[in-house]
Amino acid sequence: MTVAYRAKQIVDGISENAIEDGAVIVESASIVSVVSGEDIPSGAEVVEFGDATLMPGLVDAHVHLVWNASAEPHEVVARESQALTVLRCARNALLHLHAGVTTVRDVGASEGLSVDIARAVEEGIIPGPRVIPAGRAIAMTGGHGWFLGREADGAEAVRRAVREEMKAGAACIKLMASGGIYGHAEEPGSPQLTVEEMRTAVEEAHKAGRKVAAHAYSVAAISNALDAGVDSIEHGSFIDRATAERMRDEGVYLVPTMSVYAAMSEKGPELGAPDYIQRKTAEVLEASRDAFRLAREVGVKIAAGTDCGAPGHPHGTLPEEISLMVAAGAAPMEALCYGASSAAELLGLSDEIGTLEPGKRADILAIDGNPLQDIQALHKVRRVLRGGVEVYATGAGE
Ligand SMILES: [Zn+2]
Repeated sequence: MTVAYRAKQIVDGISENAIEDGAVIVESASIVSVVSGEDIPSGAEVVEFGDATLMPGLVDAHVHLVWNASAEPHEVVARESQALTVLRCARNALLHLHAGVTTVRDVGASEGLSVDIARAVEEGIIPGPRVIPAGRAIAMTGGHGWFLGREADGAEAVRRAVREEMKAGAACIKLMASGGIYGHAEEPGSPQLTVEEMRTAVEEAHKAGRKVAAHAYSVAAISNALDAGVDSIEHGSFIDRATAERMRDEGVYLVPTMSVYAAMSEKGPELGAPDYIQRKTAEVLEASRDAFRLAREVGVKIAAGTDCGAPGHPHGTLPEEISLMVAAGAAPMEALCYGASSAAELLGLSDEIGTLEPGKRADILAIDGNPLQDIQALHKVRRVLRGGVEVYATGAGE
């Protein structure tokens, strides 16, 4: 059956401007074409969205499904049963759909639970976005986020860790190249996994066609990760111009996660987040915005990611990250692409998702209003389709 989703604006993710009065033509799970309202094929069932905007389902390149946005989410996971954590993951997955996020990359899950959640969504056991799981993140002993993953020391141990994660079902690999905010005995700027360790990880992952994401804040840690050949730098807040230029030249993505620092600094005190989290957040908050601006200016590839699940930052908050990108100087169309086509490319999925083009999966988001005029419209989700199937709808509008 052919369905035509018609709306006042269509942001297809490739055109410079929105298509006025258009329709996305869908057959089963795929997009057949994007046409003007007058060219809807006869016989198509027309679903009318009026003033709404249709755009590609959003892609969040940095989430932690096991975390619940409490003051110390890692402590919650450590205390509770795994059954409860899994139920929490299912709920978190659903929150992404409600925000129009149809694909997430989970970059670190205790016990590798993201792999199971990815399968549960794929098999239709639970509703959720498509999950691209890194399984357990790989850190040095005592390194950043060891509780979201596993510890490995020395190149051969890291090699084995990568192979084991891929055997368990990891679709990408996450490395901890520096300290971070959540541990009390580490600083974000301190380098952690060595170049040699990360190079081995990249070698194994790339052999298997998997991409590698590296958590890194300082120039030293980012440079180590670049020497090792990673595909993206997560956070990257203390980057300098020369290192940004190197990322641009080498085609490495930056995932700046600005919204997590905004959320933690705003809500951390009332949540009762530990002092060390609040202190380090304050150090990173402005730096993360400067890093985003610098990356744009220099021409680094950027993908949107939230780090949601972290203190004060619930799942389904990608629209906040995209709004912050606009606040930091990006044009709305550009920021929307960071959260769709660009993130899809980082995940290696640009043949399937990220734009409204013939042959792509029908992951489509309908929002009230026009996000090109007011990016806050992105919060007004009316309907979400994933693979042509309605996975979320509000009663509003029609
Ligand atoms: Zn993270």
